[in-house]
Amino acid sequence: MPLFEITYIAVFTIVLAFIFGTVLASFITCTAGRILAGMDWINEHSHCDTCGHQLGALDLFPIFSYVLLGGKCRYCGSKVPIRCLISEVLLGVVFVGVVLAHGMIDAVMVRNLLLAMLMMGISFCDIDGKVVHEGFTTAILAVWIGALPFVPEMKLYTADGVIACVLIAGGMMIYSYARTSAKKTGIDGKLIKLTAVYLLYTGLWEGAAALAATLIIWLITGRKKPVVPIMSICIIICLCAGERLFGSSVSAYVGTVYEFVRSFGF
Ligand SMILES: [Zn+2]
Repeated sequence: MPLFEITYIAVFTIVLAFIFGTVLASFITCTAGRILAGMDWINEHSHCDTCGHQLGALDLFPIFSYVLLGGKCRYCGSKVPIRCLISEVLLGVVFVGVVLAHGMIDAVMVRNLLLAMLMMGISFCDIDGKVVHEGFTTAILAVWIGALPFVPEMKLYTADGVIACVLIAGGMMIYSYARTSAKKTGIDGKLIKLTAVYLLYTGLWEGAAALAATLIIWLITGRKKPVVPIMSICIIICLCAGERLFGSSVSAYVGTVYEFVRSFGF
């Protein structure tokens, strides 16, 4: 349903999106931390990293708990990293941005929100552990596949994603292979896989724009920064902007090619 037709629904959805963003940020940063530490990330209760005290509902309220407790553990007084607060506010804002850009309450909106959440998890794994965690890549792929039946013009959308994937990620693979044979450092295979999965979401033009922006930022910032957070931010911005520009994530040219092929009676 369209978001902006009824004011109170729009306001309600935006507020809800922010709250969901903050809650899921604590969940995903916690999950990423546990995965990196090799801990059980499903069954374990949340606890303070310093004193090990199990955290209650009052300690786990996004943003409010941090502000009310002054950024400290209620039990031992040790400092809670400021990153917890930043990630909560950030994902809240990103969720609102995704909802506003999409302008519809539907499966694609939910898909993009899940993508944003998983992007945060895989970004933290890269920042802290310097790894592109394949569990997250698989989850991002699963969300894309899960959303397929609900996407309007599924064939066009899939074709656009797959074309982007083959052309750009394929190109990256060849480039990486050539460098490795020349005994230079190629692009990390896990990074290529993640890029391929991101491209399924964006399609060719938005994907190419996002990767060009990633490359420029990475070069400007001195080539050493973890690249996954930069790429994730560029991808989600181009995905949302592309949807706004084209009305859906399907680029217009694929439609043209598709119709052209169809006109021959296929
Ligand atoms: Zn503590």
